[in-house]
Order: sequence, then C-alpha cells, then structure tokens
Amino acid sequence: MSTTTGYATHSATTPLESLSFDRREPGASDVEIDIQYCGVCHSDLHTARNEWNMTVYPVVPGHEIVGRVSRVGAGVTHFAAGDLAAVGCMVDSCGTCADCVEGLEQYCQSFPILTYNSPDKHLGGMTYGGYSKRIVVDEKFVLRVPANLPLPGAAPLLCAGITTYSPLRHWGVTRGKKVGIAGLGGLGHMGLKFAHALGAHTVLFTTSPGKEADARRLGADDVVISANPDEMKRHAGSFDFILDTVSAPHNLDAFTALLKRDATLCLVGAPAEPHPSPAVFNLVFRRRQIAGSLIGGIRETQEMLDFCGQHGITSDIELIRMQDINVAYERMLKSDVKYRFVIDLASLA
Ligand code: NAP
Ligand code: ZN
Repeated sequence: MSTTTGYATHSATTPLESLSFDRREPGASDVEIDIQYCGVCHSDLHTARNEWNMTVYPVVPGHEIVGRVSRVGAGVTHFAAGDLAAVGCMVDSCGTCADCVEGLEQYCQSFPILTYNSPDKHLGGMTYGGYSKRIVVDEKFVLRVPANLPLPGAAPLLCAGITTYSPLRHWGVTRGKKVGIAGLGGLGHMGLKFAHALGAHTVLFTTSPGKEADARRLGADDVVISANPDEMKRHAGSFDFILDTVSAPHNLDAFTALLKRDATLCLVGAPAEPHPSPAVFNLVFRRRQIAGSLIGGIRETQEMLDFCGQHGITSDIELIRMQDINVAYERMLKSDVKYRFVIDLASLA
C-alpha cells in the first residue's frame, strides 16, 4: 500500500477537503496512474451530497480520469510506464455474466464496481475516485487516450462523452435523423458534438436563453427554449430521438409530444427526485417510448475515444484547482459551467 492525497467529503452537508488515504500496490494485472486531470460530473455532486441515498462516507468523487502510467504489474500487456491512460466510471465487474461477456460491463448483473463509492475488494472499505493524485486499476478497465487530443479536454470523455455517445449509437443516430438534446451542461454539450458529428439535424433544448450562441457553435442546427410552449409546439411530432441530460426533475410530456411515431426519449439525467409522471396518451397514441441508458461498456468507451481522436472532439472545459471544487459545485447547480469543470491535479500538494 502507499498513501496518496485526494479531496473527500465526510457528510452530505460539509464541503470537500483534503484527505490522505491508501492505494494498493499494483497487482499482476494492475496499472498505476498518476492522475493529471479529472472532470467534475454532476453525479459527483449527487453522490457527495447523498442525493441518491447510497453514499458511504468519506467519499472521494471523480470518474473522468486521465494521466500517465507510473507502474504496471508483471502480467500487464497493454500499458507501460509513461503511457497516457484513462479511467471512467467503472474499475471492475464480474466478467462472467451475459452482459459482461457481451462487453456491456455497465449492466453487469452483479453490478459493476464503480470508480468511487463501491465496495473495494482489494483494500476493504469503498473505492476512491479521481479527485486524487494516484489510482490503481485493473488494465481491463484502463482506456487509451488518442495522442492528438488535449488532455484536459479529453478527461470528460470518460463519462460525459461515453454517456451521450452510447445512446446516440444504440438508437441509430445518423445523417437524415432529427435529434434533440435536452440540457446544455457537461453531458449535453458532448451530446451536441456527437449528434452533429454523426450527421444528424441537431436541436438543443435549454432553459438558459444565454446559451444559444454557444449551442450553435457546439453543433446545434436549432435551439429551443424548453420553457416556451409555442416554440416547443412548432416541433410537435417531428423528432426521431431525444436525449435528455437534465439533472433535475422536469416535465417529460413536453418532450414525448415532440417525438415521431415509434420514436424514443432516452433519459440519461439522473435527478434525485422523480419526474412528474408522463402522460400515457402521449405514448400510446403514437407508440412512443421512454428509455434510459447508463454510461457505456469498456469496448464502446475505447471506440468513442478513437472516434474523438479521428474527429478532433474534446470537451469545452474550465480548468480549476482542486481547492476550488466547492465553488465549482455551486456554479454547476446554477447551470453556470462552460461546459465542464476539469480539476488540474497539479494543484494538489
Ligand atoms: P450539468 O453539467 O449540471 O448539466 C445539467 C443541465 O441540465 C444544466 O446545464 C441545465 O441545462 C439543465 N438543468 C439543470 N437544472 C434544470 C432544471 N431545474 N430544469 C431544466 N433543466 C435543468 O450535469 P451533467 O454532468 O451533464 O449531468 C447531467 C445528469 O446526468 C446528472 O443528473 C448526472 O448525474 C447524470 N448522469 C448520468 C449518467 C448515466 O450514465 N446515465 C452519466 C453521467 C451523468 P440548460 O441550462 O441548458 O437548461
Ligand atoms: Zn459522470
């Protein structure tokens, strides 16, 4: 074991602060990474404040991790010291259930081991995430970062990127489709970039009129203020797919009404409280669907990173010091982030 430093919170109502804790020595199949940058996901905030009622304290959040390999175990074949490496939301899974075998570890029937706030089978206690200087992860869960991507902007691909890429691919978004992205935050801005890169006619739904120009720059062909019923009505029954990244409860009926027959509203936003219940008639009269999606598997995450390398896609970020994390959380809650905070771990002594 060796000691590292991170930022943790000890309760739902206290700020994050410095914490020293242990990382395991790299085992035969492990990769040790010196973390350089870690993105700040709204899930970090939901967890730090126990909004999903499953946080075990202290919690060290962070699952958008990029850095350099410092050591590898004797059996590691795909990474060597000095390589760039990345870790997303998962660090392990059972590896044997039908979902894991299919490469869909995020749906592991024994539940994947998440990068933070999951039981740690090596050291006991819980896993600690990327708001820290160092992490040790089995190489099966370590990703390669294309060398042409700027590293700070690549970090958010590990969650915001894959969480939007996976459903866009699963529901067949291509040229000729009309696709909506609801919410322009960390996930939403990646959703815009991917839908645009896949060739779809891309529409952003936002509650923030001030974000329109940015949305167009990020890939939106059209921008709709979702609180304006007249603007929404103009798009009734016209969408092939809508991806909802909103982090707070809101009216889903306003979005299902915009779908074509047989089309899908996919939820990736995970608010603590339920959405107001959907209007059944919106669904049954047009055979529309409401679905959900969770991050993406390891194979698809690598595919997404390679796609980003080929298309030069990264996240638009605001680089912050570790010490600024509590202010960043407050700004994220006000939808005031352009469009992902990324922590520079060099700021952590
Ligand atoms: P974020 O950066 O805070 O963005 C959320 C956006 O939602 C805001 O920028 C805002 O966009 C909109 N919004 C916020 N409050 C709203 C309200 N009361 N009514 C309507 N719109 C509101 O968050 P994020 O990191 O992108 O994460 C978004 C959600 O996805 C979180 O709940 C997170 O936990 C979840 N998540 C899920 C997965 C998964 O695998 N399914 C993975 C990662 C994250 P506008 O200003 O444009 O309206
Ligand atoms: Zn996340």
